[in-house]
Amino acid sequence: MGSASSSYRVIHLDVDGRIQKVVFSRFCSPCDIKELFCTALGVPRNTNLSLLDSSGAMVSIDPTMPHNTERLPYRVVPMTGGQLADKEELFQNVLTQVAEQFSRAFKINELKTEVTNRLAMLEKRVELEGMKVVEIDKCRKDIKKLREEMASRNNSNFLEDTKKLTPRRDVPSYPKYHLSKETVKALRLPTFDAWQWEPNEMLSCLEHMYHDLGLVKEFNINPITLKRWLLCIHDNYKNNPFHNFRHCFCVTQMMYSMICLCSLQEKFTQVEILILMTAAVCHDLDHPGFNNTYQVNAKTELAVRYNDISPLENHHCAVAFQIFSQPDCNIFSNFDPEAFKLIRQGTITLILATDMARHGEILDSFKQKVDKLTTQMKSTSPV
Ligand SMILES: [Zn+2]
Repeated sequence: MGSASSSYRVIHLDVDGRIQKVVFSRFCSPCDIKELFCTALGVPRNTNLSLLDSSGAMVSIDPTMPHNTERLPYRVVPMTGGQLADKEELFQNVLTQVAEQFSRAFKINELKTEVTNRLAMLEKRVELEGMKVVEIDKCRKDIKKLREEMASRNNSNFLEDTKKLTPRRDVPSYPKYHLSKETVKALRLPTFDAWQWEPNEMLSCLEHMYHDLGLVKEFNINPITLKRWLLCIHDNYKNNPFHNFRHCFCVTQMMYSMICLCSLQEKFTQVEILILMTAAVCHDLDHPGFNNTYQVNAKTELAVRYNDISPLENHHCAVAFQIFSQPDCNIFSNFDPEAFKLIRQGTITLILATDMARHGEILDSFKQKVDKLTTQMKSTSPV
């Protein structure tokens, strides 16, 4: 039996005062032994047990556990609530950890879902943006086409060459044209043929008019500033079929001939003569080649800027004073602020009056004045 005693272990348990003998093999696992003890106690197999010896010391439940006698049995104590709670806590911790692991796994999934969704959104956006790009590209092409069309009609675009406002420094850059006596004489007549002259000749003629009317001397205008200003005026007329620098010259020459022919210098002040001449020179500056009706109907930049109220005339005037705002081109630099104010007011009034929409109204007012003057002259003249 010696071999039997070495292969088997006999343990005595105290189960509620009753001694229960348990025999198990040395090769049993601790789990098997515990299950065996549970069966001996009549409790479920997975019940946690504590084993205490006679001194109250805990005995580990495993195949090598010290054997005992019937007289000194081990007391079997099922796990207390606290102990169970500890175990439960441990279990809960394990569960939490497992849950966390799962959660992380799920989070990764969530992340994956989010990334996928975002990608889908981006793809959609790219698609939409792509459409926008296509639209923008179409618009650009349309604008380019329009610009080309405008350029072909106008030769140059509206206010594109703002550089033109900057005066040329190399004055006098146009060759000094010596006006013959015949030209000077002809220039005073409304029959003057304006079509045979080159721009530099027209510039010389305009310069001559300011000198001839005594304006340069009277207002101490710097002759170089006068040249520079006229050159700048020339540069700020577009190459339109009609509203070009030659038109500027024609109108100014007509004004000049009227002043001469009607002896207006006897009736008007020199400041008024200066205003008449200067308004004539500036009256169509930077004309884009299309009339006010077009500007308003096409809702052009000019029409929007001037609220459909004489957009062109307002623009000509604004460009004129932009030019005067540059000291190099300011023929009024010797005027005091009050005198300049008068010149400015007069010039603005005259240029704004060139809007053909106001032609009837202005002509009627003129006729009334003429009639009044004629009546006055008749009543005062000797019979
Ligand atoms: Zn005009």
